[in-house]
Amino acid sequence: MPIKCQKADSFDLELLDKAVKKYHPTLLSAEVRIGMVMLWDEPRGDADPKPPIRVHGCPALARVRRLNVRDRLLTGKTITIEVDWREWPKMTVGEQMALLDHELTHVVLNEIREGVYAHHGDGHPEVKLRPDDYTINGFFEVARRHGRESAEVRSLERVLATTDDKGQLWLPFDAHVITAGGEVVRPNDRRAVTAVTISSGGKSVTLTGGSKQKAAAMAGG
Ligand SMILES: [Zn+2]
Repeated sequence: MPIKCQKADSFDLELLDKAVKKYHPTLLSAEVRIGMVMLWDEPRGDADPKPPIRVHGCPALARVRRLNVRDRLLTGKTITIEVDWREWPKMTVGEQMALLDHELTHVVLNEIREGVYAHHGDGHPEVKLRPDDYTINGFFEVARRHGRESAEVRSLERVLATTDDKGQLWLPFDAHVITAGGEVVRPNDRRAVTAVTISSGGKSVTLTGGSKQKAAAMAGG
């Protein structure tokens, strides 16, 4: 699978610049130099193009990499952001901005004392990459077979539980759980769950019994 690569154009670099200035100004003050390349697969014959970027085996829209000393010397960059070139134009500017913010959030500086950062001998700041706060992956069939005993459902519950008091903050609906006593609690609450109610746009649906895991999955988006 021949993966092709080209430098980001000036329009995309401008967006990257905005994302750094707006959300990660410390990367700027520490003089982290950031490159951006676009990757895509150009299969031979009639094969479908494959996702050019994978993180832990799963297709990803983008990825950030630290450069080693040789590549820093050759490119002048500290890190690079790789972007799926076929998916990128399908995204809105807001979505592109959020994706760049995500990749930049992985980057951690080595701060010796306030505002002072450790540097390599070649002048580039030392950076580390931190993992995502959460990842959700799994098989629908395992979630169906094992319900709340599966990592699939438990990881959804954990994410919902850490957002806000209502169970989830970002999606345009509100998910909560009704206990046996009729009390409305967050989805992670360990009290006996008899039903899940999902509300959206003034309408709500209550699912009970066997359908509650399905509801939990829906609530996870
Ligand atoms: Zn990530």
